[in-house]
Amino acid sequence: MSETKTAAADLSLFPTYARYPIALVKGDGSWLWDDQGKRYLDFMSGIAVTNLGHAPKQIKAALIKQLDELWHVSNLFHIPNQVEAAKLITDNSCADAVFFCNSGAEANEAAIKLARRYNQKVLNNGRYEIITFEQSFHGRTLATLTATGQAKVKEGFAPLPEGFKTIPLNDLEALEAAVSDKTAAIMLEMVQAEGGIYPVDAAYMKGLVALCEKHGILLIADEIQTGMGRTGKLFAYEHYGIEPDIFTMAKGLGSGFPVGAMAAKEKLREGFTAGSHGSTFGGTPIATAVVKATLETIVGEGLSARAAQMGEYLIGQLRGKLAGNAFVHEVRGLGLLVGIECAEPIAGILNEAQERGLIVISAGPNVIRLLPNLLVTEEEIDTAVAILAELLEAKRPV
Ligand SMILES: *Cc1c(COP(=O)(O)O)cnc(C)c1O
Repeated sequence: MSETKTAAADLSLFPTYARYPIALVKGDGSWLWDDQGKRYLDFMSGIAVTNLGHAPKQIKAALIKQLDELWHVSNLFHIPNQVEAAKLITDNSCADAVFFCNSGAEANEAAIKLARRYNQKVLNNGRYEIITFEQSFHGRTLATLTATGQAKVKEGFAPLPEGFKTIPLNDLEALEAAVSDKTAAIMLEMVQAEGGIYPVDAAYMKGLVALCEKHGILLIADEIQTGMGRTGKLFAYEHYGIEPDIFTMAKGLGSGFPVGAMAAKEKLREGFTAGSHGSTFGGTPIATAVVKATLETIVGEGLSARAAQMGEYLIGQLRGKLAGNAFVHEVRGLGLLVGIECAEPIAGILNEAQERGLIVISAGPNVIRLLPNLLVTEEEIDTAVAILAELLEAKRPV
């Protein structure tokens, strides 16, 4: 895409994104092509969205079949695909009931609303406060950006909704101090993804769950980026041997089709009643046909276990090839959610990688984030690692 074409096209849009000067027009598996015909190895997957690669065949077939039958009906009618998709979620998780929406932020909104409404209308205890964590990311609506533990997403949007408290992660004393008789829920990512690839400490998680049980506080897991097999389990909370009361999904849930969902345990079912929450587009026949096909593929083909195995291979190769390079502070991750923490900001490295045909993103200023699809091959991993090792070698301090 020429410079002038890019600038002219962007003038008709709000400047909400710092876009790369690349227009991607075709995708197949782990590969993308731009409008100049250049090929890229995609280790970003639309930020953990295209977990089955680009244009996956089973999902495409399910989508085309549904397009021939019915696109949309109101949620005032029964939607069989929605029930079947929800059942696949409840059969493969700790949840008993699902609400479908269209994005991650909406899924978290639903979780926040359910936590408050359950406390206020079922338990009648008047609790409303949600505790969240520094460096977290939960979305861009007013409530979810307030829940987000990053100042930059809140700038200029005051006044923000009340009832959120943000504290440091992995600090049990800070958590104990933050809990009050107003605390309705604690909400967290099992691996902070946007914030820099920080898995929650296992001992801390135990303490957090014990505190929730002691005080009757709901636990909300934001699995929007970590869910759908990404971390080597279908949902990342499984790594911790715990069961959240509520968890949220989006990103990989539709393999690239926009869809979100909030799932919760049985006791929370009565937190919502007819009319208490809703969404015009939530769980349409098309969206839930795609969710069904996505879950059938991930569960049926054992792709969570595959992600665990390929993630181990990726981390092993990175650690091996980057060993002794003082520019690299740490390689860490869970499954195929992997970060390379560097000594300095890495924005320039992302551009250099694109020039060499590799697409990766950042997680915070100094961390290169790798999110290949769950079907990535060892050969593709070797290619990506070789490009990154060469780029990072050039940054090695002399
Ligand atoms: C992406 C993301 C969201 C927001 O999802 P949207 O679909 O962009 O609204 C929320 N939480 C986490 C952990 C995410 O990664």
